[in-house]
Amino acid sequence: MARIVVKIGSNVLTRKDGKPNVTNMSAIVDQVAELREKGHEVIMISSGAVACGRGAIRPSRQLDKVEERQLFSSVGQIRLINIYNDLFSQYGIVIGQVLTQKENFNSRTSYLNQRGCMITMLANGVLPIVNENDTASLTELMFTDNDELSGLIATMVDADTLVILSNVDGIYTGNPADPSSRLIRKVSPGEDVSGNVVASKSGFGRGGMGTKCGIAGKVSEEGVRVIIACGYRQNVLVDVIENPEAVPHTEFEPVTQPLSSLKRWIAHSGSFAKGRLKVDEKAAEVLRSDNAVSLLPVGVTAVEGDWEEGDIVNIYDHEDNLIGVGRSAVSSDVARDLAGKKGERHLVHYDYLYIES
Ligand code: GLU
Repeated sequence: MARIVVKIGSNVLTRKDGKPNVTNMSAIVDQVAELREKGHEVIMISSGAVACGRGAIRPSRQLDKVEERQLFSSVGQIRLINIYNDLFSQYGIVIGQVLTQKENFNSRTSYLNQRGCMITMLANGVLPIVNENDTASLTELMFTDNDELSGLIATMVDADTLVILSNVDGIYTGNPADPSSRLIRKVSPGEDVSGNVVASKSGFGRGGMGTKCGIAGKVSEEGVRVIIACGYRQNVLVDVIENPEAVPHTEFEPVTQPLSSLKRWIAHSGSFAKGRLKVDEKAAEVLRSDNAVSLLPVGVTAVEGDWEEGDIVNIYDHEDNLIGVGRSAVSSDVARDLAGKKGERHLVHYDYLYIES
């Protein structure tokens, strides 16, 4: 039995005119039901609210981007979830809706609360269907897209596999439309294939293959196998899990020694950082080494921003390259006092430090 997170993009769920693509939704529901029947646990991350709302209502005046997102998602989300409810109830599957936003991941308490919610739903046989709360998310604090959200959820619930269903078969060695491009079947841990991705984004969703590739790399380094496949293919979801040879896809192999769950949370927290710690060359070298070391004040050359003890900070080297992310053991005021001093306690303890590889 595996725990599987499935992310379905707006283009798979909606037709060109913005109406829900009930045929595709129904095919996905059949497959999720089959996976559950086989004993797997499934969490769905479903986009499509904004796209569905767009097809359902014509605004009375020209709206700005934020108003559009709020109006369309408020109308579209309920349609989407109603269709899921109808389709899943034919299998006797009870679904639960989780609307979330970035703030729910930025403190350890809210992260654990969100995790607890998912685990309780799964333990009670409820199928969680997750989307960003697009009516409430502030633009500057939004997830880049639901690919980012699906990565956070997959690592948060210790999923075995994250399947991202897109409108292409996976990552190609060049433009997928070019016949000389080849589908990359496997990506090893640490391998960077982002250079192959042609910058393009089609249809309704916010994400593109660029973000998918970045998220897949990061999530697989945290011990979750990631599969990118085409959501239009018949039986794709069951096949990528049960019979992967049968269906084209790209697999990001997971590392065998994943990070602890605390470090995973820290690893994903860089975009919530309240401030920056800059370190000298020597400290950067020590942090980047394989040794388990904490960040000590002696190597810190600059403290930027205002934060409280326990907040997340980004750590930069002397050339302003991001080294990692950590949970500060002290407030920014104390960090300023201690910066550069020898023999003081750590500013970020090793257990709360994530260094980029
Ligand atoms: N949350 C958005 C929606 O449901 C989708 C975001 C994305 O495209 O990734 O419409």
